[in-house]
Amino acid sequence: MFATLRNTLSRQLPRAYSTAAGGAKNGNGLLWASLATGGVLVGGRFSHTLPAHTWNIRVHAKAQSLTSTILHPKYAAQIGYYYTRSKEAQANEAPVTKALDPKNFTPFKLKEKVPINHDTSMFRFELEPNQELGLDITSCFVVKARLDGDEKDTIRPYTPVSPQHARGHFDLVVKNYPQGKMSSHIHNMTPGDVLEIKGPIPKHPYKANEFKEIGMIAGGSGITPMLQLVQHVLADPNDHTKMTLVFANKSENDIILRSTFDKFAQEHPDRFRVFYVVDKASSADWKGETGYITKDMVKKYMPSPDQDNVLVSICGPIPMMKLVSGTKAPDYSQGEVGGIFKELGYSSNQVFKF
Ligand SMILES: Cc1cc2nc3c(=O)[nH]c(=O)nc-3n(C[C@H](O)[C@H](O)[C@H](O)COP(=O)(O)OP(=O)(O)OC[C@H]3O[C@@H](n4cnc5c(N)ncnc54)[C@H](O)[C@@H]3O)c2cc1C
Repeated sequence: MFATLRNTLSRQLPRAYSTAAGGAKNGNGLLWASLATGGVLVGGRFSHTLPAHTWNIRVHAKAQSLTSTILHPKYAAQIGYYYTRSKEAQANEAPVTKALDPKNFTPFKLKEKVPINHDTSMFRFELEPNQELGLDITSCFVVKARLDGDEKDTIRPYTPVSPQHARGHFDLVVKNYPQGKMSSHIHNMTPGDVLEIKGPIPKHPYKANEFKEIGMIAGGSGITPMLQLVQHVLADPNDHTKMTLVFANKSENDIILRSTFDKFAQEHPDRFRVFYVVDKASSADWKGETGYITKDMVKKYMPSPDQDNVLVSICGPIPMMKLVSGTKAPDYSQGEVGGIFKELGYSSNQVFKF
């Protein structure tokens, strides 16, 4: 379902999006086989390439005499494997719990950090095997940290890029702003460190087919809420919403997750289109738009405000929002529609500012 994102990320994170159904090489299994007759306990670490089906192993193991099963290294390894797989299977069967608490900050442990480009990395945080984060589409969470010398906490919103129902972990893609308080703090984390997170913070509750067309304008790391929405819509074959994304960055090198979006567009040409804008092109080969977002670009790529059932959404730095949509109100409510959207006649129920 999320093969594109999975492929993109798995090149950098080899264990990205592994599932319980995946192959099991080098399975580490602590074998506990308590025999009714003698209460024999056998423990060990096993490194075998083993068959991938738990139930075959269960049947096979039962077919052996208990003694030979336990003592023969081959079968011991298989039972060790069965034990490991069985734990995974049990995690799959166990009720799925949600890790986030909307009222309180919860600590999440960083497992891995993988650079994506010169200033952006992906951060994988641990969940229990039967836990998912518990974010609705579209929503984000807030991260809190008391940074050196500060008297109060710094709090910022982030949107994970892992699929909505991913279990066992979640991934954040964070762009590092050299003067940025929270982004620098996250980039300075090492595996084992914890991040305090609270959520979900609902944004625009999404219903399939509510809109005929959704236009999205993202700047820099403002792309993550758009990724959340795009991958969710495309994963549902009964959702016929058309989506167009305009993704603005300083330079080509700053465009994160580009191959993910290109693949989405290739695989779903009737449902998703993506266009890139850079402040300044680095070569004459650049095929996208150049400069800041203009009224012409909005007219060209976004659904027209004259149509029914359309939404234009935006997430990015404040100057971009001022120019295109007007900023949010000081209390973080949507505020008035301003900028290019206002000039072009979009009404407040046609605009959503993340
Ligand atoms: C709904 C939502 C979801 C978000 N999800 C993500 C996410 O998944 N990943 C991610 O990396 N960021 C995301 N952001 C942005 C994030 O919340 C922070 O604003 C960002 O990490 C910078 O915070 P900071 O504390 O490091 O910078 P600050 O200390 O707040 O700012 C320091 C400097 O960085 C500049 N700056 C701050 N933010 C931006 C920006 N977006 N573009 C350009 N310059 C900026 C400021 O102008 C200032 O000069 C999201 C924002 C929103 C509203």
